[in-house]
Amino acid sequence: MAAADEEDEVSKMVAPSAAAAVPEPIRGHLIGRQGTWQLHIDAAALRFVRQPPAASKESAKDDNESFVCSFDDTVGVGFISDGGCRSRYLCAFRYVRRPAAAPGRPSGPRQRSLVLFRIVQPADPPGVALVGRLCSQAVARSMGREPGPPGKRPLLVLLNPRSGQGRADKLFRETAAPLLEEAGLAHRLVRTESAGHATRLLRDSPAEELLSYSGLVIVSGDGLLYEALNGLAGRPDCLQLLRRLPFGVLPAGGGNAVAASLAHANGDCLDRDFAVTAAFNLAKARPRPVDLALVEAASGASYLACLSVNYGLLAQVDLESERYRFLGGARFALAFGIRLAAPGGLRVYRARLSYLPAEVAEAKDAETADVSNENGDGNNRKPLASLKRHLPASLSDPLPSNAGWVTEEVDYLLVLASLHSHLATDNFYAPPCRPDDGRIYVTWVAAGVSKVDLLRMFLSVGDGGHFRAPAFCCAAARAFRLEPLDDGGPVCIDGETAPCEAMQVELLPRLGLALTPARIGITN
Ligand code: ADP
Ligand code: MG
Repeated sequence: MAAADEEDEVSKMVAPSAAAAVPEPIRGHLIGRQGTWQLHIDAAALRFVRQPPAASKESAKDDNESFVCSFDDTVGVGFISDGGCRSRYLCAFRYVRRPAAAPGRPSGPRQRSLVLFRIVQPADPPGVALVGRLCSQAVARSMGREPGPPGKRPLLVLLNPRSGQGRADKLFRETAAPLLEEAGLAHRLVRTESAGHATRLLRDSPAEELLSYSGLVIVSGDGLLYEALNGLAGRPDCLQLLRRLPFGVLPAGGGNAVAASLAHANGDCLDRDFAVTAAFNLAKARPRPVDLALVEAASGASYLACLSVNYGLLAQVDLESERYRFLGGARFALAFGIRLAAPGGLRVYRARLSYLPAEVAEAKDAETADVSNENGDGNNRKPLASLKRHLPASLSDPLPSNAGWVTEEVDYLLVLASLHSHLATDNFYAPPCRPDDGRIYVTWVAAGVSKVDLLRMFLSVGDGGHFRAPAFCCAAARAFRLEPLDDGGPVCIDGETAPCEAMQVELLPRLGLALTPARIGITN
């Protein structure tokens, strides 16, 4: 039977309401547990109730013992094969959170924990098949998806085999691909062949082709996402694609800041097994608006940033850490230690930093009637720069006077602006930052701070403790301008190296769409 026909057939079988068609009672054996269980399917869970054994003296004790397989933890339901009796083993693909490591801490990462149920009643194969369909439809509905055959619009998966410690292939093959299949999500995998491949693919593919995917999944670090977004940014129909092609990230890179920040906003624990949690979140995701930022350089080049603009010490550490890639996430700590210990002291970067505090921009936006339309008036072929509300057209124009801009001309050790809470799974750099709060956290450390204090800040970045250090300055902003006043200096945008020149940056609130679970975390 063709997929569409089969879908019609299923909807006929379960119409008008799924509950009416449930072949009651559904009985069977829960693998790993004693006895016979009755299955009840509802909108939130599969509920199994143990049946009292016939004429058992112990029946009173066992009566009504139940086991709940919540759809909050389940990505799909299917039959699994077991020799000759393949279609009777119903399997719920569950990924449960491990208990918290200590009281008051967030619960642990998710781990796979299947629920296997051997159906005894109904006994006829069509009845058994119907039970399976009803279960998977209930899970699909709980995720806000239309039940039906999988894979109508696949995900486009871009995998960088060189990211992190070179384990992206393994991670995808062993963790994410099986989970997506269990969730009924089809995908097309493209392994990048070199730096720039993702940019070309997203810049040059026809829009219809890109929109035939339900989303774009990056299996890498933040650099590949940046590449992909800048491929879109180079197209005349960029706005249309940003609004219709959501992106998700499976963390396979060195830092994985965007994946970590989205998971953090979702209340998830970030540790070694965070990849399973991220894949689970992807299966459960819906497109949610997230902030992006337009970076305009004095040379005329422009970039679409999704994470950070980084100048000075931390950009230097990021670039120098490349040679320790084999160490994974630890490479940043080593590069920082080496930089700190290097003779000759730390380089000082003289620069002018101007920023527009977020509150000032928000108050101004509130006065302007047309700002609530999320950067859009329906014209999808406008250039990104036309979305700016607070910056002048070009860097050669002065900043508006009396508009609330603050300017600091200082000797800096570092300036780093972040759109996200995390710069890596173990780097809680801008704790108050949310992916869609309309704010870019401009932070800086001025020259004069001792190496000991710098080291202290670095050592407390895992839990955000550096944020309270007196030498660490931060402004929640909507836009900023950075003008280096002496020659050269390391610059990274989203962790990727960029020329050192004057630049201005404006946050474009909720311009992008991220694939992240809808339930929690991100304000709407
Ligand atoms: P990581 O967190 O490990 O740095 P990124 O996603 O940031 O991972 O990617 C690192 C760099 O690898 C980026 O500059 C990206 O352009 C580049 N890149 C992408 N695909 C490939 C490839 N196939 N071979 C080499 N480099 C690649
Ligand atoms: Mg990178």
